[in-house]
Amino acid sequence: MAYDNNLFMEHLRKMIQIPTVSNADPDKMDVDAFLKLHAYLEEAYPLVHQKMTREVIGRAGLLYTWKGNGKSSHLPLMMTAHLDVVPEGDWSMWKYPPFSGEVAEGFIWGRGATDSKCNIQAYMDALELLIAEGFEPEYDLYFGFGYNEEIMGGPEPAAQLIADTLRERNVKLGCLIDECGGIQKTADGDQYGTIYICEKGYADFEFSKTDNGGHSAVPDKHSALGRVCEAACILEANPMKPVLTEAAVKQMEATAPFIKDEHLAELCRDVRKNWDELCSLMAENPAYNAMIRTTTAVTMAGGSAQANVMPERAWIVANNRLLPGQTLDDLWAHYKEILPEDIDIRLVKGSNPPAVQSTDTYAYKLISSIVEDKYPGLTLIPSMLCGGTDSRYYCDLCPTNSVYRFTGLSWDPRWDGVSHKVNERIPCDVLENNVDFYVRLFRQYGK
Ligand SMILES: [Zn+2]
Repeated sequence: MAYDNNLFMEHLRKMIQIPTVSNADPDKMDVDAFLKLHAYLEEAYPLVHQKMTREVIGRAGLLYTWKGNGKSSHLPLMMTAHLDVVPEGDWSMWKYPPFSGEVAEGFIWGRGATDSKCNIQAYMDALELLIAEGFEPEYDLYFGFGYNEEIMGGPEPAAQLIADTLRERNVKLGCLIDECGGIQKTADGDQYGTIYICEKGYADFEFSKTDNGGHSAVPDKHSALGRVCEAACILEANPMKPVLTEAAVKQMEATAPFIKDEHLAELCRDVRKNWDELCSLMAENPAYNAMIRTTTAVTMAGGSAQANVMPERAWIVANNRLLPGQTLDDLWAHYKEILPEDIDIRLVKGSNPPAVQSTDTYAYKLISSIVEDKYPGLTLIPSMLCGGTDSRYYCDLCPTNSVYRFTGLSWDPRWDGVSHKVNERIPCDVLENNVDFYVRLFRQYGK
């Protein structure tokens, strides 16, 4: 199949130019921007819109359905990504304006370029090309695009609404693929694939203390704010214990050949045997530490509104990421145990980690074989995502345990970890490869 990378670039640029920014306050969501993006998709991908049924779910979610010809015995394939982007941040720090979709220095610049409009663009372009060739799926194909992934769903998680719609229709999925992952090229020239088979849970806990307040000229020995600050120190000094999960073992052992530190690489070759030593080494590195435990990060605090008033109520908030297998109740019990009784604990919001997915499935093997075909000899590393994605809402619709976060993108040091930062950008030359991955997937799935 012939690919026109300029066309892919044009599609992505136009999508970036529509500022579909998330807002934690649903009343402030710019629904019109989302509707504009819907209209643009319709204009850019006429064949997809001819073949697939499109429904608007919630205020701006999109569910596309294509009932296949039924020849395949496999359950449906679903692709997900999100229409919303995080706020652009400080405009003056952007090299090119955040909603310009500027093409410069070999990149397309702008908010959403990598997270995750490039996925929507790639799914759509792949399918549009296939339809032009006469493709008809033997399986049912779904696309689901939410509008509030970046605020963890907020009060009306779009992905949940889409999943509920499918559930009402008794749809079961054979495989769901969401954003994140792909091929990684390191600065040392190593190359491997990352496929996320699980992700951590999420929770915000508030810890507060109320007392009498009063004049700060005659203070008590402790203010409510002093007490919650002590609580913050206790939280930091008493993290949840490290746990060796099956997913972490798989990930560490597969990563061993790529670890430059000789000693660490040696330990990772047999994770279970070397667990004690690994554990203390990993705890020192934030990225490794997050792989082996539920994390607690104290991120917000508040006390009195004025310097000369003792706070009547003071609070801190900790953001937590839960390891698969642990629950909000476990975390609550841990906090109850380590904190003094007079500190009030409140779960502001949170969700338990979704189920860990299997690597012994039809879909996993298919993805592996496409990767092997494109990059012979490449290692695919089943990994845990420390952040969260919309895919978690769909796990219980997928009896085959085949919910993966994987893309056809080749990530390399040029990207500079740009997601959610200013100067988000995507190298122009990776789009074609991304589309090619989905062309192969849509063609081969169900066979
Ligand atoms: Zn994202």
